Amino acid sequence: MTFYDVKQKYNGFNFEKYIGNISDEMIKNSIQKEILDSMDFLNLLSPKASNHIEQMAQKAHEISVKYFGKCILLYAPLYVSNFCINNCVYCAFSTINKIKREVLSFEEIEENCKIISSYGLRHILLVAGESNTKTPIEYLKKCVEILKNYFEGIDIEIYPLDESSYKALADSGVDGLTIYQETYNENLYKLLHSNGEKSNYRYRLETCERAGRANYRNLNVGVLLGLNDFISDIFFTGIHAKYLQAKFQSAEIGISFPRLRPTVGTYQPKTLIPDKNLIQAICAIRLFINRININISTRESKKLRNNLIPLGITKMSAASSTEVGGYLKRGQSEGQFKVKDTSTVDKVKEMIYEKGYQPIMKDWIAL
Ligand code: SF4
Repeated sequence: MTFYDVKQKYNGFNFEKYIGNISDEMIKNSIQKEILDSMDFLNLLSPKASNHIEQMAQKAHEISVKYFGKCILLYAPLYVSNFCINNCVYCAFSTINKIKREVLSFEEIEENCKIISSYGLRHILLVAGESNTKTPIEYLKKCVEILKNYFEGIDIEIYPLDESSYKALADSGVDGLTIYQETYNENLYKLLHSNGEKSNYRYRLETCERAGRANYRNLNVGVLLGLNDFISDIFFTGIHAKYLQAKFQSAEIGISFPRLRPTVGTYQPKTLIPDKNLIQAICAIRLFINRININISTRESKKLRNNLIPLGITKMSAASSTEVGGYLKRGQSEGQFKVKDTSTVDKVKEMIYEKGYQPIMKDWIAL
């Protein structure tokens, strides 16, 4: 059994009907519980729960401090290639967009690493568009060998692999995986991803399980907020994360909340997710899964990131560039999306200290 089978059990579940019957009493009851079930989680995501956001935020804060203290791990993404065989309509790297394509040479990777590590960062996210011919495993392994000389934690956000390839990358030094399902709505997913490897919804959905079997220490999931109905997509993200936590007990499970940002192309989001919904989603996740990493990237503004910290953020990117090799030559090519918080690492650290929290550069050492 995989998460695909778990998700199938919700086929036919009428979200609209259930949400229409949620009462204030049900929401209050869910907030007070120690252990929440999936319907409690849905209660907290409902429009009616926005009237209880202060109580949810208070509890989310208490749980976060209890399990994580007041620490925020900082990291940066390094884009090594923007070649992609897929045509995701919402992404600058889509194969249909006429942008300058490149793959970093190993010398360029080394130069970017020197710059990023000079900011003080010790965790890196290696990102590549999906092309196993332009960025094959052997290339990625070599990238990781270089990254290892500069960083203690190496996560990857690349095309989905089979278990043996995940093992090969783990042997090179990778310890975490980020993979976004984009949307859990299978029909919409197929409409948005009509060609390339990414059109295989099930293979992508089961990706974290292949990495989990390869003993990855960090497994991070998420959806691209704005593609689909907010409530059902956040609901399945939470259910997926909880499933992974139960199945891979030695792994740290994390959730990111990327909202669609402007990019090249003409795609218009189905819905613009307002800040209040994002805040509600973060609080609901924290109450549903107490021990989960929550990551907020530089897609969000400095002000919002600052305000989200007490709700249970445990990871933040800083000084990010979404261009290929963008630390060495910033502003010279099309990034995957436009970064909103352009603060330096020192400014992000300052902001974290001002909130009474501590920025963490490294949270583990590989033995
Ligand atoms: S979202 Fe990922 S798979 Fe889709 S076009 Fe962009 S880089 Fe390629």
